[in-house]
Amino acid sequence: MLIVMKPTATQSEIDRVLEVIDTLGFRPHPMPGASRTAIGITGNQGAVDRAHFENLPGVADAIRVTKPYKLVSKDLRPERSVVKVGSSVIGGEELAMIAGPCAVESPDQVFEVAEVVAKSGAKFFRGGAFKPRTSPYAFQGTGEEGLKILAEVRDQFGLNIVTEAMDEYGVDLVEKYGDCIQIGARNMQNFSLLKYAGKASKPVLLKRGLSATLDEFLLAAEYVMAEGNYDVILCERGIRSFGSHARNMLDLSIVPALHKITHLPVIVDPSHGTGRNYMVDPMARAAVAVGADGLIIEVHPCPEEALCDGAQALLPNQYLELYSQVAAIRKVVQPEAETVSV
Ligand code: PEP
Ligand code: MN
Repeated sequence: MLIVMKPTATQSEIDRVLEVIDTLGFRPHPMPGASRTAIGITGNQGAVDRAHFENLPGVADAIRVTKPYKLVSKDLRPERSVVKVGSSVIGGEELAMIAGPCAVESPDQVFEVAEVVAKSGAKFFRGGAFKPRTSPYAFQGTGEEGLKILAEVRDQFGLNIVTEAMDEYGVDLVEKYGDCIQIGARNMQNFSLLKYAGKASKPVLLKRGLSATLDEFLLAAEYVMAEGNYDVILCERGIRSFGSHARNMLDLSIVPALHKITHLPVIVDPSHGTGRNYMVDPMARAAVAVGADGLIIEVHPCPEEALCDGAQALLPNQYLELYSQVAAIRKVVQPEAETVSV
């Protein structure tokens, strides 16, 4: 059930609806929008009786939700959401550029890249301290020490830190040191982790699972939001396919498909999406052309020595060239004019 308030509804009328939902034993999710507030209801097993709400003052409509997802949906918020991440936003007018190494390896490596990323004008820095590796013998990340290096990057360069958490321990640490909790492709359907991140005080960047459908992807985001964390950014990062010319198949058609259904920002990761250095720039340009709200790009000062994902890393100068190209494309591909903060 979704309660749509009249544009003229007062705060006390909204509060009354929240109270009724609470009394029924359900959870209310108020979403203020540009023209009206809508309130999603979760926690109900069967249908909720409209009669509880239709005659309350300030209520315009009580609508049954027939789709599997509620809170991610544009039915709840017709305008695009702008998610605050640290001192900046993702989903606003400006293309969000998140750049940095795959993994935090050492202070020197991180600082060398951070200097370039800061100079480029990007507002976000990436780097994994906890790495989900296919082999247990591969480099697993630098853990809390790595997060401390990232926190120094924020202090020194003013960049907002996006970094992965693989478990609840990681979520607590990323909350402490970072600005945005990345949930990786392999964990997209780790439901207990999603619920835990849904209780966190920092936004969540949710990557699409290796073979997730659009519905599965949105329902994973719904898990986070149902716990009360509405600051979710979706990230397309390529899915498994039969070809071997690229590491994954970057599914750019999901960008407009998601934008049609959800108010959440959608960004694209052409680094993991292709796995090949030479493909990152053309696919980044394509992603911006199809309306992505941002990009996440891996950069390394010496890719052949990278401890993780060297084959897809851009050299600093390649990253700078990519940024100038996508910035030019962004100028002619404007997001929907009307946006509103979460
Ligand atoms: C990453 O961003 O470093 C990463 C591991 O991504 P994904 O979860 O998309 O593989
Ligand atoms: Mn990587």
